[in-house]
Amino acid sequence: MTVTRFAPSPTGRLHVGNIRTALHNWMLAKKAGGRFLLRIDDTDAERSKEEYVEAIRTDLAWLGIEPDGEERQSARLELYEKAFDVLKAAGRVYPAYETAQELELKRKVLLGRGLPPIYDRGALNLSDEDRAAKEAEGIQPHWRFKLDHDEPIAWEDGVRGAQKFDPATLSDPVIRRADGSWLYMLPSAVDDIDMGVTQVLRGEDHVSNTAVQIQMFTALHAAGFAAASDSAREHPDFAHEALLVGKEGKLSKRLGSLGCDSFREKGIEPEALVALLARLGTSLPVEPIADRDMLLDTFDLSTFGRAPAKFDDAELERINTAIVHTMPFDEVQHRLPAGMDEAGWHAVQPNVATISEVADWWRLVTGPIDRMEFSAEDRAYLHEAAETLTWGDDPWHALTNALKDKTGRKGKALFLPLRQALTGMNHGPDMGELLPLIGEAEARARLNRACHD
Ligand code: GLU
Repeated sequence: MTVTRFAPSPTGRLHVGNIRTALHNWMLAKKAGGRFLLRIDDTDAERSKEEYVEAIRTDLAWLGIEPDGEERQSARLELYEKAFDVLKAAGRVYPAYETAQELELKRKVLLGRGLPPIYDRGALNLSDEDRAAKEAEGIQPHWRFKLDHDEPIAWEDGVRGAQKFDPATLSDPVIRRADGSWLYMLPSAVDDIDMGVTQVLRGEDHVSNTAVQIQMFTALHAAGFAAASDSAREHPDFAHEALLVGKEGKLSKRLGSLGCDSFREKGIEPEALVALLARLGTSLPVEPIADRDMLLDTFDLSTFGRAPAKFDDAELERINTAIVHTMPFDEVQHRLPAGMDEAGWHAVQPNVATISEVADWWRLVTGPIDRMEFSAEDRAYLHEAAETLTWGDDPWHALTNALKDKTGRKGKALFLPLRQALTGMNHGPDMGELLPLIGEAEARARLNRACHD
């Protein structure tokens, strides 16, 4: 069974890159008939906020990405403790006592010599007495995971293909702070094991974390720390998608920190965002596909490219408009102005880019409409129109055909004064659909008003 997870840290609102990762994980699971889990990475007690946890859930719900389960790291600390003990017993974690300033200095020295700033494992050279002395001074250690330099790291990445890392080029990661709190690296690996995650799909900024975590998975597995469900598996499959960038190369602040609110406020439909993000950065064409099953059918990691995916607001708006133009009445009914029926939606739908624009057009039916100025000649014409108006199945075509014969007008001269008198606008929804909605008495009143100005 395929199990994926989306693991945001609730230290802010989701940005569009997170949303894309969530969507792809959901798609990966759903396509395989598997499970998609939400994991709240809230080990950073200071920066994690409940309001962000709520906002993440709300955003996912709005997108229609429903998790099949939710875990949060702050409730799983015992498990990390257990894994920590296992790794300690296996000689894979060690205490280190350098201060942040000392580490920074070491980094600077290495960089100054043109060398990569890899931790020098100074703490491994400490004797028991050295350590005892540090602790007698009241210095609590932080803890590092000891990479096995003899074990080359390799995996077949679902997007990037064969990946290889020489562990000697990586620093032994700090996994636990001196106050006992956890950094991201170990809890994530422990949870992926315990939650039975089979596929980790995340941004390419995590590639070197994966290299380190693969050694954690392997070490934990060798020590018998495995999910009951899948003890044969050493580690999940990994795939790292190229990052999402804005049109100018950077994601704007708005896309960078406001969750789904900014999209919702702009009238973007969740289906538009989903349609765009599902295929952005893949070799598949981005199309206004509102049907998720269709998107799922074509979803395939092998179509993902390695170049950064470009997010363009204008493209999202285009897709949104196209999707709004195909939305059936029963789907939008509850969001339409009171009294607007299916015929009203049908009349107005081709003219709107967002559902909130519907109200503006619907006002042309319910009134009041703007008064427009007409020439004497047009007033006479509109008078004629009021006289000519009859009410049947198709009053607009009956009216315009009769007026054409009577007045010899055609084209714009025939249609525009009528539209202006009946709606107060120079353009708008198809009059053939609009006029029956305006109704006979109101239509007559509007024509009369216009020709008496
Ligand atoms: N909390 C991590 C992040 O937001 C999770 C990364 C992962 O998917 O493992 O970057």
